[in-house]
Amino acid sequence: MTMTYDCIIIGGGPAGLNAGLVLGRARKNVLILDEGRPRNQVTRETHGFLTRDGVSPSEFRRIAKEQISAYPSVTFVADIAASITGTDGHFQITTAQGITHGSKKVLFAVGKKDVPLDIQGLADVYGTSAFVCPYCDGWELRDQALVLIVNGAHAAHFAKVMSGWTKRFTICLNGSDDMTSADREELTQHNVPIYDAPIRSIVSTEGIVQYVELEDGAILPCTGIFFGPKLVTASGLPKTLGCEMTETGTVVVDKFGKTSVPGVYGAGDAATEMYQAITAASLGALAGIGINSELLMEDWGRGHDQ
Ligand SMILES: Cc1cc2nc3c(=O)[nH]c(=O)nc-3n(C[C@H](O)[C@H](O)[C@H](O)COP(=O)(O)OP(=O)(O)OC[C@H]3O[C@@H](n4cnc5c(N)ncnc54)[C@H](O)[C@@H]3O)c2cc1C
Repeated sequence: MTMTYDCIIIGGGPAGLNAGLVLGRARKNVLILDEGRPRNQVTRETHGFLTRDGVSPSEFRRIAKEQISAYPSVTFVADIAASITGTDGHFQITTAQGITHGSKKVLFAVGKKDVPLDIQGLADVYGTSAFVCPYCDGWELRDQALVLIVNGAHAAHFAKVMSGWTKRFTICLNGSDDMTSADREELTQHNVPIYDAPIRSIVSTEGIVQYVELEDGAILPCTGIFFGPKLVTASGLPKTLGCEMTETGTVVVDKFGKTSVPGVYGAGDAATEMYQAITAASLGALAGIGINSELLMEDWGRGHDQ
């Protein structure tokens, strides 16, 4: 086993990187283990992050790593945390490359990942003209003709939110039958077209959607798509270690990222359902403060104050 770190951060997205920055500036020995497969890797630009509006996800990470490298107690390793054992003060993390690292504290900043939506042609447009969040990509598609692929239970809410960016959208339920008659009536009153049939395919040219074709033969021309993805936490390790999870698979944390397991923290998409890079970074910063504070109090208690 290599040295024992003050903290191992699993995940090097906005959450893990901001935690690393805080802990590096607090003079803690930190290892950031990152597989390098963030959820937004399909996109060309990240929006809505003050001072970084429009940069690519890879450029965001490059700048972050450059800035963190000013703090020599932070080490980056490109590897996957494959297993974790131990308790507060004595965790052991073994990577896919077979290296075991020791750590006093652990931060899960592993993000979430999409469960692939089984729609032909969606992968060709995801991140280029099909998106998941209007706050992230609605501005770029403002006033355009869009198809919203959403299940019936969420369609009315999604329509109201989207109406802030464009009034020219069509609801495509893709075969789901859980829309209430009240929601259907409300959308109809607002002249929102609703298509029930399953999608046959999404037809595109060089990543730009041309139209959505339904199984009943209907053709829905559009220049963009928003859809509601299903998400899962990107690593099973928080659950393995016994962290309390919500029903929807999010790690339960307090305001400083503390999980139900002593010495274990969570931040970013893995620990929230507000999926924004700046929110993830903010939660990472708070977890960094929580971890540093806990380490300092423990050290102080042991009398290491000289
Ligand atoms: C298509 C799309 C577009 C988006 N656009 C925007 C936008 O414009 N603006 C915005 O604010 N937000 C946007 N988001 C949301 C944003 O990407 C996320 O909220 C943000 O990346 C979350 O940061 P994170 O650090 O929690 O997780 P991530 O950025 O997902 O990083 C998690 C990292 O942990 C790594 N990891 C996971 N498991 C392990 C393991 N076991 N060992 C080692 N490493 C591991 C992953 O490989 C990854 O590198 C978008 C999301 C999507 C899907």
